Amino acid sequence: MNKITNHLATAELQALDAAHHMHPFTANAELAKKGARIITQADGVTLTDSEGEKILDAMAGLWCVNIGYGRDELAEVAARQMKELPYYNTFFMSSHVPAIALADKLAELAPGDLNHVFFASGGSEANDTNIRLVRRYWDLMGKPGKKTIISRKNAYHGTSIGAASLGGMQGMHAQGGMPIPDIVHIGQPYWYLEGGDMSPEDFGLMRARELEAKIDELGEDKVAAFIAEPIQGAGGVIIPPESYWPEVSRICAERDILLIVDEVITGFGRTGEWFGTEYYGLKPDIMTVAKGLSSGYAPIGGSLVSDRVAEVIGREEFTHGYTYSGHPVAAAVALENLRILEEEKIVDHVKNEAAPYLAEKWHQLADHPFVGETTIVGMMASLALTADKSVRKPFKASPGTVGFMTRERCFGNNLIMRHVADRMIVAPPLVMTRSDIDTLFERAVKSLDQAYEDVKDAGLMETAD
Ligand SMILES: *Cc1c(COP(=O)(O)O)cnc(C)c1O
Repeated sequence: MNKITNHLATAELQALDAAHHMHPFTANAELAKKGARIITQADGVTLTDSEGEKILDAMAGLWCVNIGYGRDELAEVAARQMKELPYYNTFFMSSHVPAIALADKLAELAPGDLNHVFFASGGSEANDTNIRLVRRYWDLMGKPGKKTIISRKNAYHGTSIGAASLGGMQGMHAQGGMPIPDIVHIGQPYWYLEGGDMSPEDFGLMRARELEAKIDELGEDKVAAFIAEPIQGAGGVIIPPESYWPEVSRICAERDILLIVDEVITGFGRTGEWFGTEYYGLKPDIMTVAKGLSSGYAPIGGSLVSDRVAEVIGREEFTHGYTYSGHPVAAAVALENLRILEEEKIVDHVKNEAAPYLAEKWHQLADHPFVGETTIVGMMASLALTADKSVRKPFKASPGTVGFMTRERCFGNNLIMRHVADRMIVAPPLVMTRSDIDTLFERAVKSLDQAYEDVKDAGLMETAD
């Protein structure tokens, strides 16, 4: 029997957690001193912790709880599926109804001819699949030299060694021999801190053309694919200048390389369209999905694959797959999540109501003396903290110092808002109402006011040279 139940005191839970639980992306020694915040329940857009505090979750968990917490329908579907068929694999010429139904539904929802799905349990696994898919594709096309995948600095594609290699996070690459061979990174379209004196549009074009230059440098006969998030999420909600994606699309159309669009965050309504691909008018050969696919209620992800690529891959055995590819319970839960997204017109709600209102509020934060810029698309937004609004420059303190102080104030005010270096980001559940957004805004203002004073008091209100 599980001896750990919610009636244990918070301190006891924290001690057990510190003793035995290794947390992702955490300095565990530091956490052990501080004690984790223990979340016990959630409903709608609100979490409850073990002290009974109600916290507004403006990050939808990890960008995933698109339909909000507490939807019994998903729990019921999961229970029913567990009783009927809790598990069976999809290897060796077998299949089952939930995987079939979900693949069919995804083919219907996905843009263009992305009519085929290779299932995984999350985004990292799906991106590992993608590395293998694109290299295998070119092998079968008689071009085995086309192996290199071009990605971007500060991209996030997951944490397995393949996915983290695709990603462009220096802090991750520094821990364990990454990137693996034949993955290279070009610059990101991050105008605020990297655009210098250029206009956003000129800078967007310049960063897009790094793709063309990299293909020329390596040789088109060596390049398999380009992978990118429509909007970088974990990189800090970096919304590219408007010139960026049309130019990348032009380059991809002119060159014989595949385009992998990582929609793990931007998929399933976050931008106000079903997919970021539609928001930006992209034509991917492969699309990575996870997170919002099940609104986080069950671990599932996948690669949506075009007719052309799927036909080639299917010619012979593709020696790849996960025990839980198309897991029946996860697939059934995802299907129910998609039903709710569709029937409750949640994507329209984002586009016509929630996102415009969030944008109105979010841009008001730009007037704060501590805020250098605000950006938003759909229900993903970020702001740059600044020591001096008249320049676009980082703080003198090491990146993240000020962001962390601000995040701590948010946490203290029962608002989950994340920081990436010194950008503050939100990606709330898509079902937020106006009054939820008002609460988010009030707590954000209060937290910014407090953090602004904290940073001044700490003598950190200084711009880097
Ligand atoms: C979260 C994320 C991933 C990794 O997904 P996991 O389910 O954590 O493996 C990949 N790509 C993007 C864009 C993500 O945000």
